[in-house]
Amino acid sequence: MQQSVFDHMQQMGHEQLVFCHDPHSGLNAIIAIHDTTLGPALGGTRLWNYNSHEDAIVDALRLSRGMTYKAAISDLNLGGGKAVIIGDAATIKSEALWRRYGKFVNSLNGKYITAEDVNTSARDMEYISLETEFVTGVPEYMGGSGDPSPFTAYGVFMGMKAAAKKAFGSDDLSGKKVTVQGVGHVGQYLVGHLIEEGAKVTITDINAARVKETVEKFHGVEVIDGKDLFDREMDIYAPCALGATVNTQAINSMKCPVIAGAANNQLADENIHGPMLIEKGIIYVPDFLINAGGLINVAAELDGYNRERVMGNVEKIYGRTQEILALSDKEKIHTQAAAMRIAEKRLRDIANVKARL
Ligand code: NAD
Repeated sequence: MQQSVFDHMQQMGHEQLVFCHDPHSGLNAIIAIHDTTLGPALGGTRLWNYNSHEDAIVDALRLSRGMTYKAAISDLNLGGGKAVIIGDAATIKSEALWRRYGKFVNSLNGKYITAEDVNTSARDMEYISLETEFVTGVPEYMGGSGDPSPFTAYGVFMGMKAAAKKAFGSDDLSGKKVTVQGVGHVGQYLVGHLIEEGAKVTITDINAARVKETVEKFHGVEVIDGKDLFDREMDIYAPCALGATVNTQAINSMKCPVIAGAANNQLADENIHGPMLIEKGIIYVPDFLINAGGLINVAAELDGYNRERVMGNVEKIYGRTQEILALSDKEKIHTQAAAMRIAEKRLRDIANVKARL
């Protein structure tokens, strides 16, 4: 990290960074609270074996900022936060670790509310919930909303349809060639929606078991090696694995008119790759807009969970995508910038409302 942590926080607009350490359980966690203008900062806890503590801090800062935008654009009354736990998911998990972490979350008195993320499960949330009420995504048998992935996938499907309407003149995806990169929790549900609609689905995943599972579950899915992914002709690229897959090299090779997928931080650098996509005529649906279904779902736990209402709110991703694509055209800005502009306007408006009696 070239700059100090405080320089990073100032540049990205963070309010608070909390370091949590417990030698007994091996817990080393960082909770990043980006912005609480709209409400308590809600965001998942990621468990990852980072190469360095600096990498973990940068990840927490980036991810929590993304959550502020995701909540703001989704009309949720929530702020942006995210936590990372440093460690190997295969060995570090224990009841003591989760409960100790739960106590740290509780010590923030509701300013931060946690949820599932990469390498954390509903079962882990259950342990956390023994020590704090500020946790969402607990299992259904405990009155929670369970796995958020089906809602995320449905939101991605909605955003993809809206982008298809602009690119192809119709939001009907039947016959469209869609490549789904990563058939994990979200990717598999997305494949289900696409197959049901009659799309020609191609998948790629580094995990052979996931590929096998998907092919067995859905007939007619073609499997490809990820290496030459962007040399292939496709109508829609759906990144549902890791971030930063939309980079200079990939964009130079890309032959698809639409990018619409679930992964977080898809653009390696929004200031470079957002404009590059516009220049190449590729419609990109901003990640924090299209993958908000899971957040919309867990947020509903806070106001009394109702599945139909959640589905209705997730469906709104279609209209919001259209709004952002229209703003991008009108203002001649890239789509990520257009989405950020709408989110930032809401943040300013609500800050103004809250500042007055
Ligand atoms: P997951 O871990 O269940 O699935 C990810 C899949 O991607 C795995 O099968 C993995 O093997 C595969 N993968 C990893 N690297 C790959 C590569 N280089 N090429 C091809 N496949 C690769 O995760 P998930 O819950 O399905 O989430 C997918 C993405 O969506 C993540 O970026 C996540 O942050 C984001 N996201 C998920 C949710 C949610 O509700 N689960 C919500 C918002 C955003």
